[in-house]
Amino acid sequence: MARQPLIAGNWKMNLNHLEAIALVQKLAFTLPEKYLAKVEVAVIPPFTDIRSVQTLIDGDKLGIKYGAQDVSEHESGAYTGEVSGPMLAKLGCSYVVVGHSERREYHAETDELVNKKVRQVLKNEMSPILCVGEALDVREAGGHVEHCTTQLINGLKGLKAEQVRQVVVAYEPVWAIGTGKVATAADAQEVCGALRQALSDKYGKEISDEIRVLYGGSVKSSNIGELVGQSDVDGALVGGASLNADEFAKLSAMA
Ligand code: PEP
Repeated sequence: MARQPLIAGNWKMNLNHLEAIALVQKLAFTLPEKYLAKVEVAVIPPFTDIRSVQTLIDGDKLGIKYGAQDVSEHESGAYTGEVSGPMLAKLGCSYVVVGHSERREYHAETDELVNKKVRQVLKNEMSPILCVGEALDVREAGGHVEHCTTQLINGLKGLKAEQVRQVVVAYEPVWAIGTGKVATAADAQEVCGALRQALSDKYGKEISDEIRVLYGGSVKSSNIGELVGQSDVDGALVGGASLNADEFAKLSAMA
């Protein structure tokens, strides 16, 4: 079964709600419907922008998806500062990024916590974009495939095969995020292929063939073509380049 490419723009902690509206308007204008039929495009703004983005995208039926950058492991309650799965679902989010390396590094998120968050996202009928990726020392020691497949399998622990179908996986080598150092297409294929094989071994080929595996790390319009040309790379999680509507539209149209 052909997998529809997904290009998701992780804005990280950038753009207030007015800037968010301006970017989505420009993106919708630059990325006509003919591309959106082929490629799924999503924006992943900070929490404070989601309501504005929802109003614009849903109100004008722009055909762009949107999501959140994180979620609480808890459903509700006394967790100051947290945002729950039901809150994000109520805002119409399709996707929630879980286990981004910046959260693993700066907020000490473990595979166990990532797994709880993945469950929250699925319970609330959204799709997690489950990020995995190795640091430079792990790659240099040759442990990158094992490291990433372990993060993947731990992140999915306890899920039924039917639930795993809803998951998007993002391979994001830590050394390539925000550094301008993109992995080669062969590097991306090696790990994305191994992640799909690990999914196949655990959940069966039919399911692994359906799951989208994205690459993330310094993706731009100049390198997206080669990356998505790989058989196991089904799109990209894009950071910096998603903050420029023209560039993000250009690379989305090339996926
Ligand atoms: C990211 O943060 O997920 C990312 C891939 O960032 P960048 O594209 O800026 O490397």
